[in-house]
Order: sequence, then structure tokens, then C-alpha cells
Amino acid sequence: MDGFVRVPVREQDAKERAKNFKEVCLGYNKEEAETEAKRCLGCPNPKCVEGCPVSIDIPGFIKEVKEGNVEAAYQVISKSSALPAVCGRVCPQESQCEGKCVRGIKGDAVSIGKLERYVADSARELGIKPEGAKEKKGKKVAVIGSGPSGLTCAGDLAKMGYDVTIFEALHEAGGVLVYGIPEFRLPKDAVVKKEIENVKALGVKLETDVVIGKSVTIDELMEKEGFEAVFVGSGAGLPRFMNIPGEQAMGVFSANEYLTRSNLMKAFDENSTTPIMKAKKCVVVGGGNVAMDAARTALRLGAEVHVVYRRGEEELPARKEEVHHAKEEGIIFDLLTNPVEIHEDENGWVKSITCIRMELGEPDESGRRSPVEIPGSEFEIECDAVIMSLGTSPNPLISSTTEGLEINRRKCIVADEANGQTSKKGVFAGGDAVTGAATVILAMGAGRAAAKGIDEYLSK
Ligand SMILES: Cc1cc2nc3c(=O)[nH]c(=O)nc-3n(C[C@H](O)[C@H](O)[C@H](O)COP(=O)(O)OP(=O)(O)OC[C@H]3O[C@@H](n4cnc5c(N)ncnc54)[C@H](O)[C@@H]3O)c2cc1C
Ligand code: SF4
Repeated sequence: MDGFVRVPVREQDAKERAKNFKEVCLGYNKEEAETEAKRCLGCPNPKCVEGCPVSIDIPGFIKEVKEGNVEAAYQVISKSSALPAVCGRVCPQESQCEGKCVRGIKGDAVSIGKLERYVADSARELGIKPEGAKEKKGKKVAVIGSGPSGLTCAGDLAKMGYDVTIFEALHEAGGVLVYGIPEFRLPKDAVVKKEIENVKALGVKLETDVVIGKSVTIDELMEKEGFEAVFVGSGAGLPRFMNIPGEQAMGVFSANEYLTRSNLMKAFDENSTTPIMKAKKCVVVGGGNVAMDAARTALRLGAEVHVVYRRGEEELPARKEEVHHAKEEGIIFDLLTNPVEIHEDENGWVKSITCIRMELGEPDESGRRSPVEIPGSEFEIECDAVIMSLGTSPNPLISSTTEGLEINRRKCIVADEANGQTSKKGVFAGGDAVTGAATVILAMGAGRAAAKGIDEYLSK
């Protein structure tokens, strides 16, 4: 193999996997990983690290893989990341570390994500754990939410010696990693739960079924329960809808509800007591990762699936790998198309959706060309389910129950990007609760910045 082409990764066959919920990508074995690692040039000024929001020493860990030292490679990664098996699977590497890799100038970038996944999976199989704190500081910090931002902040603070408790509203920890991203992309028991156990092994306590703002407020945690600082990593779990006629019909779901039923409540499993609609023909509205996950879930549950997105292929916000996998599995993409009305049958169930064709006009404030309707181009798609995947906003529960916590017009908590400090003394925030729906690694980066900010605040 010449040095310009990456070692291909093994995957489940597209026809086969479209009928099951087992993981699509099978990852590298030792030989494949070591061969791929040899493509890394070990640049003295590594561009890949500049592209990583948590600044993993990428050439450092790849050098250890090259030499067959998985444990050393894992310790290098875990200095910067609490969730390497997760990131290796779901991070948009093509626009981050791999997007900057110098190998990508004349050929394929080094497959950094797949190597990270190999190291994390091998370390897990060998029972290798991250190293914890040597000394305790005797100070209590509360972390709200157990998604990637909360887990990272909690893990970093525990490594510094703080006494950390995570409060999670759901009955399971992990945030979107357990309720949003499907099993076929991110196995829950084998991967997510194991990485959460590693965070707990650092000494982090986890209390599930505690809704901050209902069970207890932030002020009560600080004034009555002795927490000297709080990190808010409560995510952006409130779905948006289109407000078009017919959206209240039975058979219209938010992607959040649909995916939570399938992932958190395991409705895809015949033995689960949680019901889920097994549609014959399903329209998924949207073009992001969430839309791809909803579409591929509906497909696996037996539906013919159309993704309806108002812009073109180039503008699809989902990761390229996810779009590629969705197409391979048979998802039909109706691009430059927008829904205008949902129609219901005499019993109130969805029977079809009217859409209109779009063309791209001038760029909007996001720099993407705005979609413009083509008059008279309406057409109807018959379907029995519609899944809306149009983005999410932060739930206002925490901001409305915490005196002095500033939010912006998008209902996101206002926090300093450098250290997570909010408008309220001792309260820090990061992840989707601050940025709106973004990515796992950005949430982790924010959790890490806030852990440093909290340490500085409590060390004064
Ligand atoms: C279906 C789907 C697919 C995605 N795919 C990708 C992908 O491929 N790659 C990628 O990088 N990103 C992806 N994302 C985005 C990514 O998962 C999020 O950006 C990331 O999880 C945000 O992390 P977070 O810690 O800020 O919040 P979350 O992961 O949302 O976690 C927040 C946690 O806080 C808890 N919480 C909320 N309110 C309270 C409260 N009042 N009290 C206590 N707990 C509370 C919630 O229950 C939740 O567990 C996807 C998102 C979705 C929904
Ligand atoms: S930029 Fe690419 S080749 Fe250079 S150190 Fe990073 S991964 Fe290796």
C-alpha cells in the first residue's frame, strides 16, 4: 500500500445492516491500525492538533500505536479526552483533525478517528483505566447533566482532586450519547456505559432522576448543600417544529421523541415495553446528523424513507460519512424540497405531505445560499409518518429557576468561551446549553475549559 491511501475500515454490508441495529463500522484490528499509524509523519508542528477542540497530542498517541503500545497511546489520549471511544466514532474528523492533516494535501488524511477508536476499544478490552487524582482538595462541585460537556468537566475536576457530583434528569447517564445517537453508530452497553464507568472510576458521583430546577435548584445546591461551584451542561433538548398546517396529526414526531423511544427506551427491541411506530413510508424533514439517525432508524424498523431537505447536497449539515451510509442503505434524498402541509385521514393519522421545490438564492448570514420556493412546483408524497428534525433549543427550566443567570434571545445561557463563567458567581456553563445544538467534541472542549475556570475560581 502506498502512503497516499488510508487503510480502509471494515463495515457491515449495507443490505444486511439496513435490517439490524448492530454497529455499522467494525473498526481497525491491530495490524490495520499499525499499518495506518505508519502513514503519520509525526509532524513537529502538527496541524491536526490545531484542528482538535480538546488538543489531543495526536502524533504522540499515533507514535505509540505504531510501536504497538496501546496502553501508552491510551494514556496520551486520556490526558485530553474522557470519551475517546465515543469521539473516535462520532466526531466530524473530516472538518477537524483530519481536515488539517498534511497527509490530506496529496492523498488521504491519516485516519485519526479510526485510530482513536482502535486505542480506546483495545484499552477497554485490556481493562486499562485513566489515571485519577493523587490528592483531594476537599471542595464540592455540582455538574448538571451527564452529556459529553458534563462528563468531561466532571472527569477533569475529579482528576484535579475535587469532590464532584453529577445530577442527571434522566434515569441513565450519557445525554445525547444514550438518548439520541443510535446503537448502530454508538453502542450503548459496550461503549458509552464503559466510558461513563471510567469517569466514575475517577471518583465522580452520579445521581440520576434529579431534575435541577424541579427536584432542587442551583441556589439550593450552593446555599444548602455545600457546593462551592456549579457547572451547567444541560444541553439543548427542546425540539423545534415547522408550524405548518397538519403538524398536529398522529404520526408526526419530533426526531428527539422518536430517537429517545428507540435508543433510551430500546423500543427497537421486540422485548421492549415502549411502543414505537413502525411506518410503511416515512418522511424525515431536515438534513443534519439527527435527521440521518432518525431516517436510518425508521428504515431499520421497516419503512421506505425519504429525507426532505430544503437545500442541496453540498449544504447537507450531516457528516459526509453518515450521508454516504444512509444512501448505501437505501434512504431516498429529496433535496431542494420543503414541506408546506401535512394531510391526515378521517381518523387523524398522517396520509401524505405536500412539498414544494426550492432553488438556491443569495447567501444568508450563515454564508450558505438561501433556499427560495419555485412557485407552482408543489407535489405530494404519500406517507404514514413524518419525523421533524429541524434543530433543538435549550430547555428554559434551569434559566427560569436560577436568579441572575443571563440567557440570550435563543434561550442559550451566556457564558465566557474561555472559562465557562456565567453572569452568576460560582456558576459555569458549556456545551449545547450555551452554543445551541453543536457537536460532541465542542461540548467536551467547553466542559474542559469550564473545569479550568472552576479550578481558578476555587483556588483564589
Ligand atoms: C440524534 C443526534 C445525533 C447527533 N450526532 C452527532 C454526531 O454524529 N457527532 C457529533 O459530534 N455530535 C452529534 N450530535 C450532537 C451532540 O450529541 C451534542 O452536541 C452533544 O451531546 C452536546 O453535549 P452536552 O453535554 O452539551 O448536552 P447533552 O448531550 O444534551 O446532555 C445534556 C444532559 O443534561 C440533562 N439535563 C437537561 N436538563 C437537566 C436538568 N434540569 N437537570 C438535570 N439534568 C438535565 C439531559 O437529560 C442530558 O442528559 C448529535 C445529536 C443528536 C440529538
Ligand atoms: S498532521 Fe497528519 S501526518 Fe502530521 S502529525 Fe498530524 S496526523 Fe500525523
